[in-house]
Amino acid sequence: MGATAEPVTKALAVHSAPDLSANANARPVPRYTSYPTAPNFSLAVNADVHAGWLNALPAHAAVSLYVHVPFCVELCHYCGCNTHATRRQEPVERYVENLLTEIALVARHSGARKVNRIHWGGGTPSIIGADGFRRIHRAMAKHFDIDGMVEHAIEIDPRRIDAAILDSLAAIGVDRANLGVQVFSAAVQRAIGRVQPFEVVEAATSLVRKTGIRNIGIDLMYGLPHQTVEDVRFSATLGARLHPQRVAIFGYAHVPWFKKQQKLIDASALPDAGQRYRQAIAAHESWCELGYEAVGIDHFVLPGDGLAVAAKKGRLHRNFQGYTDDESPVLIGLGASAISRFPQGYAQNHSATATYSAEVRYGKLATAKGAALTAEDSLRAEIIERLMCNFRVDIDRLVEKHRLPTIFSRELARIDLLAVQGLARRSGRRVEITNTGKPFARVVASVFDHYLEGSGTRHSMAI
Ligand code: SF4
Repeated sequence: MGATAEPVTKALAVHSAPDLSANANARPVPRYTSYPTAPNFSLAVNADVHAGWLNALPAHAAVSLYVHVPFCVELCHYCGCNTHATRRQEPVERYVENLLTEIALVARHSGARKVNRIHWGGGTPSIIGADGFRRIHRAMAKHFDIDGMVEHAIEIDPRRIDAAILDSLAAIGVDRANLGVQVFSAAVQRAIGRVQPFEVVEAATSLVRKTGIRNIGIDLMYGLPHQTVEDVRFSATLGARLHPQRVAIFGYAHVPWFKKQQKLIDASALPDAGQRYRQAIAAHESWCELGYEAVGIDHFVLPGDGLAVAAKKGRLHRNFQGYTDDESPVLIGLGASAISRFPQGYAQNHSATATYSAEVRYGKLATAKGAALTAEDSLRAEIIERLMCNFRVDIDRLVEKHRLPTIFSRELARIDLLAVQGLARRSGRRVEITNTGKPFARVVASVFDHYLEGSGTRHSMAI
C-alpha cells in the first residue's frame, strides 16, 4: 500500500447502502479533527505547560495562527460553534483589546517567529470590523514575521460583510474566504434560523471576488431538519453557480444537551440515519458530477486545488478547520476556546469569554486544558489521521517510524469485523477503508481511539 491516495473522484463509486436502521456503524463517534479529541483534554495541561511548549519551539519553525472571534449578531439554531449573540459593539471592542494583549503574550513565550498561515474563524469574524482587523494584523506584524505567508484565510457569513470590511481584509492580505451557506432550500433555512436567499450569497461572493480575494470556498450541510435528498442536490446545483474552488459538506450534529440553541430545532423533523446516508451520498454524487474531486470524507475541490494535490501525494492533514494542506506541526490558537497544537500536545484556551479575558488581562496565557501526547497517542493519532485523509494506513510503517512496538491485535480483530460488513479490508497490518466504507471512515478510525470506550462522552452521528 503506497502513500498515494486512491483517485479521489472514484471515492464513493461503489456504495451499496448498508442497513443503518439497527447498525452500530451509525453510532456517534468523534470527527477526529484531533487525537486525543477535545472531550479527553484534561486540566493537567495548564498555562505553565503551554508556555513551555511555546518556548520549546525552534527559532526556525514556521507556525500557523488561528484567531477565534466568538460573537455573532444572532445565533443560528443549528450552531455548534463556540460563540454568543451580541448586537453591542463594546464587548467586541474589549475582545479585540484582549486579542492584542494575547498576541504580545504568546509572542513573548514563543521561540518561533515565522508565520506561514493565518485563519480567522468564529463566530462571525467580520463582527470586529475593518478597524479590528487592521489593529490585530498590525500586532501580528509587530510580534511575528508575517511576510511571505502561504495562506491567509477567513470564514465569512454572507449576510454580514460589506465593501469596507472586505477592503480591510484585502489590505491585510486575506487571499481565501470560506462562505457559510449550509443549504439553499427556503424551508430548511427557516427551520435552522438562518435565512439567506441565493441572491444574498451570490452578491456576497461577487463582492468578495471584486475585492481581489480569489480563493473562495463554501460550506454546506446535510442532515438538517426537513432536509431531503432533493434539497441536497438543489444546493449543489445553486452552489456550483458560485464557482467555489472548495466545498465542504458537513453532517448536522444534533447535540442539544451541549448546544442549547439546538433545542429550537424540531428533532422530529431530523432525517434518520438512513436518510442522512442517502443525503451524504447525493451530495457526493452531485459535486463529483459537477466536476469536483472528493477529498477526504467531506471536501470537494476543483482539480488541481492544493487539497487535491496534497491528497494525491498522501500529504493531506486534518486540523480543527477540517482538511488542510498545512504541513506545519504547530498551530497557535488565539482567542476564547481556541486550541493550539504542538508536537508535544494540545492546549485549549478558556471557552468562557469572561474567563479568557480575565486571564489575558492578568498577563497570563488563557490555557484551560489540553492533552500531553504520549508516544502511543502520537502513533494512534497518525493512524487515525491517515485513515481519515487517505482511507488507508500501513501500521507497520508507522510503528517503525514511531519506534513503538505496539501490537494492535484487538484493533485488527475489530477491523476484521468491519471487513465482514464490507467497510474495510486488511492485508497483514495494512488497513484500507473500502468504497462502501468511506462514508463510515470515522467508525473505522474510531477502532484505534484508545479513549473512546467508556469515555461517556456523547458525540454526533457517524454519518
Ligand atoms: S452558525 Fe455561524 S453565523 Fe450561525 S451562530 Fe454559529 S457561528 Fe454564528
